[in-house]
Amino acid sequence: MPIDATQPYDDQNVFAKILRDEIPSRRVYEDDYAVAFHDIAPHAPVHILVIPRGAYVSWNDFSAHGSEAEIAGFVRAVGHVAREHGLVAPGYRLLANVGGHGGQEVPHLHVHLFGGRSLGPMLA
Ligand code: C5P
Repeated sequence: MPIDATQPYDDQNVFAKILRDEIPSRRVYEDDYAVAFHDIAPHAPVHILVIPRGAYVSWNDFSAHGSEAEIAGFVRAVGHVAREHGLVAPGYRLLANVGGHGGQEVPHLHVHLFGGRSLGPMLA
């Protein structure tokens, strides 16, 4: 069920629990601003989720309320993970679902990083 991206942040959401290590994840990277882990139901040979450490519901929330340091740190972390997984030369795809029409299921901002095969044209 997609979320309402205007809702207040719920600190019991599954990614908040992953950030607090209350439930397991297969982490591939973490720093002061971001944590990255393998998606539990991958749609590509590489399917990694990158999330900010801060409590942001969606890209909308983060872009409006994130600090300059958080935004810069998060963007750099996404790029770092892509490079570390050898995705730059073959290419990759980034996706952030937002709210109902975007099909966002988890109410903590996450960027999907897909790679490892040709992903074809972007489909709406
Ligand atoms: O963008 P959206 O909110 O739809 O994506 C949520 C993603 O979180 C899904 O790809 C799902 O497989 C993933 N997920 C996960 N680990 C969980 C719960 C969800 O990787 N424990």
